[in-house]
Amino acid sequence: MEAAEGAKTVTVLRRLVAWSERIFDLSAAVIAPVSDRRPQPRIPTAVVVKSALVMFWARMGSLNALELSARAGFWKKWLAAPSCSADTMGRVHALIDAGELRQGIHHIYERLKRNKALPDTRGMGVAVVDGHESHTSYLQHCSGCLERTLHLPAGDRIQFYHRQVTLMLLWWLPSFEAFTWNSGIHRVSTDAARGARQPRADSPSSRS
Ligand SMILES: [Zn+2]
Repeated sequence: MEAAEGAKTVTVLRRLVAWSERIFDLSAAVIAPVSDRRPQPRIPTAVVVKSALVMFWARMGSLNALELSARAGFWKKWLAAPSCSADTMGRVHALIDAGELRQGIHHIYERLKRNKALPDTRGMGVAVVDGHESHTSYLQHCSGCLERTLHLPAGDRIQFYHRQVTLMLLWWLPSFEAFTWNSGIHRVSTDAARGARQPRADSPSSRS
């Protein structure tokens, strides 16, 4: 049963890879331009980025789960190399240029727009900004850590922490029409919205 599930996952992954290459030119346009700051990299950055991509696609729970799959035939076909260790994944990702990664994401967005895969929202977009503190420590810190002084009963202590902000573009907001209507941004033409408001002087129903 488990082997059958595994084979099914690999088949879906192969299709996803083929589709991504065809639509987004994934390897050449998104992944190849991403670099990291290792002076003499033994494992190409692309191997590390592709491994992370598959980790998310296959919903593997951890870097260790990824490492366990390193010898699978799937990797040899797509990476022309085995996947890398959990340590390498962590180390290289800490050195990856985030700007190049963002350009890749922008390329995907552009392709989706050009292929009209994103719904027409009449020139409107809704973005959600979400902030997180990912971890804190009194003992360990890196050069990118923020720090704050906590006034504790036992005395002041410096705490190190990281913050991140994610911006998500929403295209399938269930009540997008209601949202824009309520905020007075533009006129809404859905029946539901008309029913909820008095007809406008220029709406079709007021002329009848
Ligand atoms: Zn840090």
